[in-house]
Amino acid sequence: MSVKPTADGYPHLRPELTRLRNGRIAQAARQHRFDPAVAVPFICECSEERCDELVRLSLVEYTRLRRDCDFLVAPGHEVDDATVTRVKDGVWLYRVS
Ligand SMILES: [Zn+2]
Repeated sequence: MSVKPTADGYPHLRPELTRLRNGRIAQAARQHRFDPAVAVPFICECSEERCDELVRLSLVEYTRLRRDCDFLVAPGHEVDDATVTRVKDGVWLYRVS
């Protein structure tokens, strides 16, 4: 896993901010009574500032996976200073080591 120190010294800044945004997406989907089995587009939580990949997960899946990891990213994307803990179709799970 390559570690790219960022200029501001916060390697998880984008992943953390994106995780917060995804939390709001999930909250909004719940408020609008989305079918919990229907896929919702979440934002990839990798460290690449220009990444605009979407990770499609149902609310049920999102809630379950969220508990199992720190970051949810598109397959093949990387989170600096974190390790892949699980590889699934359509989403990779990372944990800060
Ligand atoms: Zn990404």
